[in-house]
Amino acid sequence: MSLIIKDLHASIGERQILKGLNFEMKPGKVQAIMGPNGSGKSTLSKVIAGHPDYTVTAGEILLNGENILEMEPDVRARAGIFMAFQYPSEIPGVTIANFLRAAVQARLPEGELIDAVEFYETLYAKMDMLEMKREFTTRFVNEGFSGGEKKRNEILQMAMLEPKYAILDETDSGLDIDALRIVSHGVNKLKGPHMGVLVITHYQRLLNYIVPDEVHVLMNGRIVQSGGKELALELEEKGYDWIKEDSLVAA
Ligand code: ADP
Ligand code: MG
Repeated sequence: MSLIIKDLHASIGERQILKGLNFEMKPGKVQAIMGPNGSGKSTLSKVIAGHPDYTVTAGEILLNGENILEMEPDVRARAGIFMAFQYPSEIPGVTIANFLRAAVQARLPEGELIDAVEFYETLYAKMDMLEMKREFTTRFVNEGFSGGEKKRNEILQMAMLEPKYAILDETDSGLDIDALRIVSHGVNKLKGPHMGVLVITHYQRLLNYIVPDEVHVLMNGRIVQSGGKELALELEEKGYDWIKEDSLVAA
């Protein structure tokens, strides 16, 4: 199992944003990518998901040796890549339970129907594990959700879909404490040998709750520095400027 990003170049319109990015997601690990605003963090997550606005001009993303850039977004999702976005859409009239049921159904082999009893058993077991109240599943997806509720929905999706690689692109404006706790509690409960989690974030605070195995710094479209969890603390203390100087020397 591996997800390897090699020499990725991507642009939006005329603008080159990713400029030779190399990265490997590892099953069983919690990895963090940090970087200043505008460095290309969300671009990276959108390119992995297959967002149509972005053009990949060079490089590849290999999932178990297969280049996912040639796959449609839904095929990527079914192959085990899960993406949680900064700004999730509302789906009025569709309850969380029905949405999850459709999402789980979509991952079954052709012709196989979801067993409703089994689905609800699994759903409630996961909700108990995540300490979520059952009435949450009757809400319409993201409609009028607080920041914390959006995160709860996202984590529940992740729990139900059991992705091999989960990528969480966290908002730069900062999660409130409630949302922080939900995300970190969820990731800490769900992480395990079969799931790799990539947390993409501008700021260090989230990493006080989700302790990463690795921290990588994305700047100007490339990973310019890698280290352990102490790197996040160093960034909190010193900002990003010292790395800028280092990576210019290295380049
Ligand atoms: P980050 O998530 O690290 O803050 P982004 O990947 O969102 O960075 O953005 C990288 C750069 O691409 C920024 O300079 C941003 O202004 C630009 N960009 C992002 N989306 C668009 C878009 N839809 N059109 C034009 N430029 C964009
Ligand atoms: Mg972003």
